[in-house]
Amino acid sequence: MALRKMVYIEDELLRKKSRPVDKFDEKLHKLLDDMAETMYHTNGVGLAAPQVAVLRRVVVMDCGDGLIEMINPEIISTEGEQDGPEGCLSVPGRRGMVKRPMIVRARFQDRHGEWYEIEAEELLARCIMHETDHLNGELYVDKMYREIFAEDEEEEAEEE
Ligand code: ZN
Repeated sequence: MALRKMVYIEDELLRKKSRPVDKFDEKLHKLLDDMAETMYHTNGVGLAAPQVAVLRRVVVMDCGDGLIEMINPEIISTEGEQDGPEGCLSVPGRRGMVKRPMIVRARFQDRHGEWYEIEAEELLARCIMHETDHLNGELYVDKMYREIFAEDEEEEAEEE
């Protein structure tokens, strides 16, 4: 495994749409392993492939219940609303308030191409929305309605 170089907000790569994965091979497994290592190393809870300069529909997440790998994730449906702080490893030093759905149903493939469905709530639902946005060239700063500054000490952000 190896750490991958992070791509930051100024980079046009983050604004491009990622392509689906069609080969579930060693190269994909290496990418997934490297992304997980990079995410844990930077204390993130999620990382999308474009953030390490790979324009493929691949994300890794760990919202406290272990590592989840999602290949070609698709949002099936969403329900409700939650309002909370968000951050991004590609937007260091900034946080903002973003409204997201409370419940997200999604389908995705694992590293071997097997399809799964998940129903996620709260932080994991937020994380899935944030990471799938990356695959479509969108950043949370496009959606935040208020920036959080250091003096707002009562609010804790997760880096995704
Ligand atoms: Zn992000």
